[in-house]
Amino acid sequence: MTDKEIEGIADLLSSKKRIAITTHQFPDGDAMGSSLALYHYLINKGHEVTVVVPTHYPEFLHWIPGNEGVVNYMSHQHKALDILEAAEVLFCLDYNEPSRTRGLSAPVANFKGIKILIDHHPEPADFVDYTLSETKASSTAELIYEFILMLKDEALIDKNVATGVYTGIMTDTGSFAYGFTTDRAHFIAGEMINAGANNRAIQNEIFNSNSEDRIRLMGHALSERLTVLTEFHTGFIALSKEDLIRFNFQNGDTEGLVNYIISIKGISFAVLMLEREQNVKCSFRSIGAFPANDVAQQHFKGGGHRNAAGGEYDGSLSDAVEHFRSVLVNFKAQLKD
Ligand code: 5GP
Ligand code: MN
Repeated sequence: MTDKEIEGIADLLSSKKRIAITTHQFPDGDAMGSSLALYHYLINKGHEVTVVVPTHYPEFLHWIPGNEGVVNYMSHQHKALDILEAAEVLFCLDYNEPSRTRGLSAPVANFKGIKILIDHHPEPADFVDYTLSETKASSTAELIYEFILMLKDEALIDKNVATGVYTGIMTDTGSFAYGFTTDRAHFIAGEMINAGANNRAIQNEIFNSNSEDRIRLMGHALSERLTVLTEFHTGFIALSKEDLIRFNFQNGDTEGLVNYIISIKGISFAVLMLEREQNVKCSFRSIGAFPANDVAQQHFKGGGHRNAAGGEYDGSLSDAVEHFRSVLVNFKAQLKD
């Protein structure tokens, strides 16, 4: 962001504004952590702020401070649209094209006030007034911290802001393990602990709050539904509706499952396929240079980062598996361990 842009935003936020914060569908830890961190910061700055999400999100994120005020478009459509309609400033967090917000796509794209995008995905679409986009950032939460610093508002980082930022960095880096877990990410996490984030409590909320069903679903998926294609250095898990019903699937229950596949020695590409009512949701992960986002974008109507991407397939689970197998052939030369 240029100095002039920062000045423009500082000016904009120097008087009380009605602000809406949006994030992508099926929000994850970074989406909710960064949204609520920004929410608390802007409240501390004296604004009127609401976080509006396109869909529900997992229970293990409902403890984040400020969660009680989040408006879910799926359950409160009119309220969500009214808030966007009334807002003067719209923040777009952890996504970079309006379609990622599902039912909010049109109101986000057509928003009449000032739009500010803060995100770490490649190739941001041009639909906003200000863009803070850094693909080398570990998470959008990390960029929320940078954003607050740019506006010289470090003093407004309280325990609530710090908790959101820490949660986003921790979840998007897989507890400080994945690529882009830079010294900066560690530094900011440390600063957030200094500002009041309780790192052990956050770890506990996110990782030690599993239901028995979830753990059994994971076990079932890994022992009964995993296919390893050694010659492609690829593994996949395909879970049917029946599998999900059997283990009383709740949104978020398969979070992290795809990472077990990628942890197998010699595997550099992994996909998890979940059969839904209308289509099959696909989560891709890769190690190293293999572009998981190319596969997602070119063959599964999705996108994402090189090593973590997602998309969907319109059709049955078995067709999705067949499609995936046929697509793999085109990528064979790039698939190494
Ligand atoms: P996940 O597998 O956790 O659902 O998604 C991993 C990453 O892939 C997300 O952080 C996001 O960047 C990207 N992603 C997931 N689903 C989609 C999708 O449908 N479209 C696009 N463009 N990106 C997605
Ligand atoms: Mn993110």
